Amino acid sequence: MLSSENSFGAEYASPDDPEFIPKYRAACFCGGVRYEVSADPVDVKICHCRACQTLHGAPMQWAAIFHKRHVRVTAGLDLLHFYNSEQDRDERILPCKISCSRCGTPIADEGRRMWLAFPTLFDFGPGNEVPDAFKPTCHLFYGLRVADMRDDLPKWSGHKNHSDRL
Ligand SMILES: [Zn+2]
Ligand SMILES: [Zn+2]
Repeated sequence: MLSSENSFGAEYASPDDPEFIPKYRAACFCGGVRYEVSADPVDVKICHCRACQTLHGAPMQWAAIFHKRHVRVTAGLDLLHFYNSEQDRDERILPCKISCSRCGTPIADEGRRMWLAFPTLFDFGPGNEVPDAFKPTCHLFYGLRVADMRDDLPKWSGHKNHSDRL
């Protein structure tokens, strides 16, 4: 469980760091896994790739990217399930997917330096209005979309800045 040496990883905010001021709180569906972030995301994207569709059971993935130092898990470390899709191994081999082993909610994609959060887990307060900082800036793998997006955001055929703009 959580301890002062931060068993989740030294690159994350310490659970008892007095300088860490939570800006947003997130929880899985069952509430067993909880975490906090102390900053706004550095980027927000919507991914239409097949892996995201399958892993989320959804037409697309909405992801907000944070530095790990702005993230701390506050509950449910023992519930976290890790899955590395490249190697098809349910181990914490980065980059990997994190989900709640009790309710199945995808918690985050854990990269080597970054934490890709799913804003649907966040508590945005009364009314749950999405803050501007969490509005997507682009669409990835847009050629694989199941529905057209009628917005002005850049739409990439693959990864941002490394594929054709559609
Ligand atoms: Zn859960
Ligand atoms: Zn994807």
